[in-house]
Amino acid sequence: MSDTIEQLIIIGSGPAGHTAAIYAARAELKPLLFEGFMAGGVAAGGQLTTTTEVENFPGFPDGIGGPELMMRMREQSERYGARIKTETVTSVDLSKQPFTVSTDSTSFTARALIIATGATAKRLGLPGEETYWQKGISACAVCDGALPVFRNKPLIVIGGGDTACEEALFLSRFGSGITMLVRRDVMRASQTMQQRVASNPKIEILRETEAVGVIGEQFLTGVEVIDKTTRTRRVLPASGLFYAVGHAPNTAFLEGQLETDDDGYLITEPGSTTTTTPGVFAAGDVRDKVYRQAVTAAGTGCMAALEAERYLSAR
Ligand code: FAD
Ligand code: NAP
Repeated sequence: MSDTIEQLIIIGSGPAGHTAAIYAARAELKPLLFEGFMAGGVAAGGQLTTTTEVENFPGFPDGIGGPELMMRMREQSERYGARIKTETVTSVDLSKQPFTVSTDSTSFTARALIIATGATAKRLGLPGEETYWQKGISACAVCDGALPVFRNKPLIVIGGGDTACEEALFLSRFGSGITMLVRRDVMRASQTMQQRVASNPKIEILRETEAVGVIGEQFLTGVEVIDKTTRTRRVLPASGLFYAVGHAPNTAFLEGQLETDDDGYLITEPGSTTTTTPGVFAAGDVRDKVYRQAVTAAGTGCMAALEAERYLSAR
């Protein structure tokens, strides 16, 4: 256990965590930020490290690569004095002041906490999924899609959101043909993304179609699907299956100490980042299932830092 009581610990390293760190560091709170070590299976820097171009973060008229944007945010945090630890927080004790924050190797205490742990890609739990996970099945096309095993092969993406569209577009550079399985007759993705997939000749969209199982030998060879309107089943040949079915908030390490909604998202006071425990603030996707954008995560990271600063100065 470290002897020093920190003013502010930030847990998480996406746009929310780093924006909070930049504001808190400039306010001379000397924040300590835990960036995680493959926390929830995602690299430090969060979800944007799993994407290519980010075209809607202000200030980059030509777009910017997701990993580069996160590297720049990390540099900016450090430049203003945030201290960064490449460790995953495994538990916290919020029952008394100062709060305790523990990793596998040690513990720290702090007067205020910002939880900015984001969200992790969901799996579907299809029959055969465990056998072919990383042997054809992946939750990140941008990370795995360019592997030789997927080149010039039929590939399938499950999901109808922006991520699914983005993954299908990315995979269209490598696969022989991309099939998107969309469970409803409408897609959740933005109009821009829907138009991009619709106009890509390599992408076919099967609506009202769900995967029910996967088959293969040493590697994946096909996905069994059901057409929900006709109830007919068939196997689509596929060397790659990419999940893009949304994310779950990374709140397990809190062990129920903060109030969440039914999906595990942290509850904050309306118009604020204050959680149910005074001195603990939540920012980014871990508290947001509506907007879930880099810029909104950064916005609530800023709010959390300002609110933490006010909380600390009032103590
Ligand atoms: P995250 O980015 O999820 O980062 C949190 C990170 O904290 C984790 O990944 C992990 O590294 C760390 N962490 C987690 N748990 C712990 C722990 N216990 N201890 C220590 N560290 C921990 N949004 C846009 O605005 N534009 C886009 O173009 C865009 N493209 C996207 C593409 C993809 C493929 C995906 C999946 C999302 C995209 N988004 C985009 C959404 C955007 O990435 C998220 O809204 C944003 O990253 C959320 O930021 P965050 O800071 O809340 O958390
Ligand atoms: P999302 O918007 O929640 O979409 C998830 C998709 O998966 C939906 O089509 C959903 O179908 C489907 N789905 C969920 N569970 C399923 C299941 N069991 N079987 C089959 N399909 C299932 O998630 P996302 O696409 O990852 O996007 C998350 C956030 O990041 C969004 O706010 C998005 O705008 C943002 N993002 C932005 C960009 C960009 O701006 N370029 C890129 C990527 C992501 P239903 O619609 O039927 O629920």
